[in-house]
Amino acid sequence: MDFRHDSNLSEFREEVRRFLKDRLPAELAGRKSGSRSQRPDLMRWQRILNEHGWGAPYWAKQHGGTGWTVQQRLVFDEECAAAGAPTQDNFAQKLVGPVLNHFATPEQKAEHLPAIFNGERLWCQGFSEPGAGSDLASLRTQAVLDGDHYVVDGQKIWTSYAHQADWIFLLVRTDLEAKKQLGISFLLVDMKTPGVTVRPIISIDGRHHLNETFFDKVRVPAGNLVGAPGEGWKLTKFLLNNEHASTADLPALLRLLRLLKETGRNRHVDNAPLLARSEFALRLARLEAEVLAISVLVQRVAAMEADHSPAAHAMGSILKIRGTELQQRLSEFLVESLGEQAAVSRLAEDEAADGMQASKPEAEVQAMAAEMFFRRATTIYGGTSEIQRSIIARSILDL
Ligand SMILES: Cc1cc2nc3c(=O)[nH]c(=O)nc-3n(C[C@H](O)[C@H](O)[C@H](O)COP(=O)(O)OP(=O)(O)OC[C@H]3O[C@@H](n4cnc5c(N)ncnc54)[C@H](O)[C@@H]3O)c2cc1C
Repeated sequence: MDFRHDSNLSEFREEVRRFLKDRLPAELAGRKSGSRSQRPDLMRWQRILNEHGWGAPYWAKQHGGTGWTVQQRLVFDEECAAAGAPTQDNFAQKLVGPVLNHFATPEQKAEHLPAIFNGERLWCQGFSEPGAGSDLASLRTQAVLDGDHYVVDGQKIWTSYAHQADWIFLLVRTDLEAKKQLGISFLLVDMKTPGVTVRPIISIDGRHHLNETFFDKVRVPAGNLVGAPGEGWKLTKFLLNNEHASTADLPALLRLLRLLKETGRNRHVDNAPLLARSEFALRLARLEAEVLAISVLVQRVAAMEADHSPAAHAMGSILKIRGTELQQRLSEFLVESLGEQAAVSRLAEDEAADGMQASKPEAEVQAMAAEMFFRRATTIYGGTSEIQRSIIARSILDL
């Protein structure tokens, strides 16, 4: 791929900056403290993006997306991170949306895609179960055909944001006789359907991102099955490759780097900014170089989108390992640099809800300790680092 300077890209960057200056509401900028914005902010921002024709920044034109090049998408992510824009719904944008674009029927697309563009419907992912995480194909949640409905029974776990989601994309076993992978199907379920119960799991950061999701005789129209019965594993492989590449989370890396630089400038020890200390500056420079390397890797992986070779598959795994480990190191360095400032007991979102919101720079660094703890999970979700290393060993090293 071509990494030479592209003047069109500078123009595009200006266009994104202008858009953010004009359309990003001041009260939304920088309000996110953590990996995802709150539901109302996220939905409002999605509507603003969509009104501007940018409702699906990562999708091809043929699917109603912006059709941006890999480099344009990167510029968009960089500028949104720098402006403190809310996140989008990654489950919709990067996981179920692409599956729908490639495998859904026209009726399914008509039902779900406009709601994704308009930010009217948030999604969650129902893959993992108490006995099926890394070994996902062992999943036991069943969907039995009964007339024109499937009846779903079982339990999912670690369902991020299920308590905020309108719909869930589920992996279910539709054929008990078939070989493990071949009996699995991909089903879309409205979270309001009777028999769906969501129970919170509070994580180490003291917050509610995670849930257990139970299905008790949940009747789901058979028309909600994406692909043919038994094709769920094929769709999952397609989806997981996108997930590995996107969990490197370049916007998060850029945001953490920006906060680190601000902290270096603003926090003083012995009457001098942290940045004046050579050990701080050197560590920051090393981390910045690594973030730049990840942004190049993101471009390489995105440019291999149409390449389904094992080597291309492994690139997503390399990106996932490097990106998530870097998120952890950046957030750890931030906490060390902020000292006691990183460890406020109340979270910015809670304070905002109580009308006690701190000023923007303070709100962004407060709760950094909580964020650092949560980022321990990045090397687990979306496939653990051990599993990614096995993929690399098999695909590239032929082990
Ligand atoms: C914060 C968070 C958010 C999540 N969000 C979601 C979500 O929204 N939806 C969803 O479906 N799931 C979600 N998950 C679940 C996640 O995908 C699983 O936790 C992950 O796949 C690991 O599965 P497990 O927890 O069952 O661990 P296990 O698979 O039991 O693994 C335990 C340990 O054994 C290691 N191990 C397992 N098998 C092997 C092997 N073959 N070789 C070497 N080492 C191995 C693992 O690397 C790990 O260290 C989330 C998890 C977390 C932590």
